[in-house]
Amino acid sequence: MLRVRGLEVRYGDRVALAGVDLTVDDGEIVSVLGPSGSGKSTLLRAIAGLEVPARGSVAWDGRDLAGIPPHHRHVGMMFQQHALFPHRDVLGNVVFGLRMQRTPPARAEQRAREMLDVVGLAGFEHRNVAELSGGEQQRVALARALAPAPRLLMLDEPLGSLDRPLRERLMIELRELFTGLGLTTVYVTHDHDEAFALADRVAVMRAGRIEQVGTPLEVWQRPATEFVARFLGYNLTEAFGDGRVGIRPDGVHVARAAAASGSGVGGVDGVVVARAFRRDHFLLRVKVADGDPLEIAVTGAPVPAVGDAVHLVADPDAVVRFDEGTPPPQLP
Ligand code: ADP
Repeated sequence: MLRVRGLEVRYGDRVALAGVDLTVDDGEIVSVLGPSGSGKSTLLRAIAGLEVPARGSVAWDGRDLAGIPPHHRHVGMMFQQHALFPHRDVLGNVVFGLRMQRTPPARAEQRAREMLDVVGLAGFEHRNVAELSGGEQQRVALARALAPAPRLLMLDEPLGSLDRPLRERLMIELRELFTGLGLTTVYVTHDHDEAFALADRVAVMRAGRIEQVGTPLEVWQRPATEFVARFLGYNLTEAFGDGRVGIRPDGVHVARAAAASGSGVGGVDGVVVARAFRRDHFLLRVKVADGDPLEIAVTGAPVPAVGDAVHLVADPDAVVRFDEGTPPPQLP
């Protein structure tokens, strides 16, 4: 089990991590989610031993790892820039880490072939890595990270360079793979869809701190702070007359104003100012009298058009109130 306590990392005067607490149980997949610059990579690097913390600790199974160099931490790392060796073939790339660990050649090759099989690249052993697709290269990098049997696998935006359909397929495949292997995994991303699809728990970071930790459903349905809600795409609004609240885009019922006249108890009127098709829904931008326009996901016909007057009613289950006086919840 990984346990990070009160971790602080500085780059000169800049505080990149400020008192981070995080626990990852054996076999658990935790996604570290946050905007660029929030400290996600720094957290991974500190866990891997590539940054020396100014304060706090990183422990594995109760043993403090301070002073243990990266190559003795049994951590596998995979980055967006996977840095495969272009002059080696696929097998040569996967074998590399094992050879660094002084695994005997025959054993290293056998293990590398097994890992290529695990990531779906059996038969690719002697392909030139430069001739593989982006997705295939990511699989090689993953096989390379898995080959030394790390007790902790850490991935930093591993799908960031891939196109969306491939990413969506790989998210599911990676989750299957990690849970199948029982891997303890920390997965960094700025994409909440990716974090939610992959992780057992999500830790949302903001400016060097963890703002909320919870299951994907908890974080999605009950963002702890305005920051988390905004990051997830909630509307922050006072338009519904009950103080400032967060409302999920899919939690607003939209009716044509004329059809709904008289039925809108607690609702609010607005005008559609933009409409975008999003595969399984339309996203409407609706200007209301009070505050910023609202973004609303609409499924099912009829979908109001730009210029239509509409009446909006919020689903109470999709409304979140924030008590900004209370500090964000942290892990015990
Ligand atoms: P993220 O991975 O969430 O994008 P990082 O961990 O890379 O965030 O960065 C956290 C903060 O630390 C940012 O403000 C970034 O500019 C700063 N930072 C990261 N690496 C360095 C470095 N080598 N030197 C100085 N500042 C850095």
